[in-house]
Amino acid sequence: VLGKQGAGKGTQCVRLSRHYVIPHISTGDLFRTAAAAQTPYGKLVEHYIAEGELVPDDVVIGVVAERLAEDDTIRKGFVLDGFPRTLAQAEGLAELLAPDDLDLVLDLEIPKEVALARLSERRVCVSCGTNYSLSRPPKFDWTCDICGGEVVQREDDSEEAIRRRLMLYEEETAPLVAWYEERGKLAVIDGLGEPDEVQARMVAAIDAAIRSRHQ
Ligand code: AMP
Repeated sequence: VLGKQGAGKGTQCVRLSRHYVIPHISTGDLFRTAAAAQTPYGKLVEHYIAEGELVPDDVVIGVVAERLAEDDTIRKGFVLDGFPRTLAQAEGLAELLAPDDLDLVLDLEIPKEVALARLSERRVCVSCGTNYSLSRPPKFDWTCDICGGEVVQREDDSEEAIRRRLMLYEEETAPLVAWYEERGKLAVIDGLGEPDEVQARMVAAIDAAIRSRHQ
């Protein structure tokens, strides 16, 4: 799933993974977990994340390669969230999956002003990653409804890091939309509206792609 920061990728990808009962692979989540555990590569990636910079392609591709080699993804498929983000990553992914390929790439579209507004309002559970916002807080005192974890503002949701991430999206990630379109893989999804409505659009696009493949 492609889409600028604030498009709701994380929330929608979690829901897709439940709907189709497949693993949700978020490179951002993998990096945040490694950074919190202070593993060697966690230490390597944490300053990129805090500053809104992209983690180097070879590190990202290595992490994804390891995850895709696990049993659950091999058996069931997967939904990728926040990866690929550069052309080199898209090419690396194609190599990892060959002779197979992605079934479909969804591009979740929202205007930049909406992205900025959503990101500055965003709050997230430090334990399970569930997203909230100032206008949709957890029920009790910034404690996660799902797991009881603390709900905070992400370090990289500072104004400066947000600006940098959106700029990198335009420079590095947006060209992937045309890249996947040329390969006949792309479905553009309107990311505005209630999360339920957006999810229904995504599921409809995926189901249509599955049906056409079986015809
Ligand atoms: P996300 O949770 O997807 O917004 O990712 C948070 C941060 O992790 C990004 O701002 C990057 O610093 C890093 N990151 C996540 N995925 C990637 C990726 N595919 N390529 C490079 N950096 C990434």
